[in-house]
Amino acid sequence: MPPVLELRSVSKHFPTHKAVSDVSLSIERGKLFALLGPSGCGKTTTLRMVAGFDKPTSGQILLSGQDIAPLEPYERNVTTVFQSYALFPHLTARENIEFGLRRKGATDIDKHVRDMLELVQMAGKEDRKPPRLSGGEKQRVALARALVLEPEVLLLDEPLSALDPKLRKQVRAELKSLQRRVGITFVIVTHDQEEAMMLADEVALMHKGQIAQLGTPEDIYLRPANRFVANFLGAVNWMGSFGVRPEALRMTRDPIESGPRTRFANVEHAMFLGSCFHVHAKLGDGKLIVAEVSRVDDPFRPGEHVHVWWNGEDELHLPAGADE
Ligand code: ATP
Repeated sequence: MPPVLELRSVSKHFPTHKAVSDVSLSIERGKLFALLGPSGCGKTTTLRMVAGFDKPTSGQILLSGQDIAPLEPYERNVTTVFQSYALFPHLTARENIEFGLRRKGATDIDKHVRDMLELVQMAGKEDRKPPRLSGGEKQRVALARALVLEPEVLLLDEPLSALDPKLRKQVRAELKSLQRRVGITFVIVTHDQEEAMMLADEVALMHKGQIAQLGTPEDIYLRPANRFVANFLGAVNWMGSFGVRPEALRMTRDPIESGPRTRFANVEHAMFLGSCFHVHAKLGDGKLIVAEVSRVDDPFRPGEHVHVWWNGEDELHLPAGADE
């Protein structure tokens, strides 16, 4: 069975900017795939090429093994959920969901729409128009409107960015469970590494129009290919040729046997984060480090002399690049 979506050496060069350069990836059917990266790295342009809103400068895009280059956006069996949701404000939730089905001349529209309203938990609110729906509800209608068309791939551009942080976490969990239930392949664009890690089966981390690393969330977090990837996914204490993440750095008041993986440090300040502390400390060479310390411990205080240590397997050995 071919992958549901495959990009082969895809580039998009605008006259003034190389937005995407030589991107290759392949996505297995039924997976949740994230295009992750900082602003301007080319994620949205990549998504727009799959949707058909932008034409690649070079390369191929295959949907279930077929080159979709000649197809217009509406001829491709993919649908897009836009960041703004782009609902029709004068239509009810139900009419928004029905819209695409009617245009396609589908049969059994009522049943399809009822099933979708159940699926996104909007039954009972189907007669409301978007101005009377909350942000989360609008998003559900936008999802239902796209899913009811049963696309091979659903493209989602920053689908959670319009929601407030608390709702965002809840909707994130709902989105994943919805994807599992419908079994449709989702490709989600996000600049939020936590979101990509929590949602995705596989992540393509993009940097300056190229893929910096492709892999499962565990792969890219635990085995980053370079310092850009390591730094983008979370804090790293770089100590010369290697780095150690704050959660892998241990801190103790007790004397410890000195060795290559131990340092003296002076606590500068401790930040309480609810579930843990982030303790900032200065090493003997003046370098600042941060250690994630469990909340149950007696909190470290500024000015305290401590020891830090770590395990060899937690060292990230990555050469420093030109731009990290
Ligand atoms: P963001 O998260 O900010 O949307 P992104 O990773 O989605 O970023 P893109 O929107 O794909 O990035 O843009 C990639 C780069 O290409 C950016 O530097 C952008 O300015 C540039 N770009 C996008 N569209 C055009 C265009 N039509 N003409 C020229 N440059 C463009």
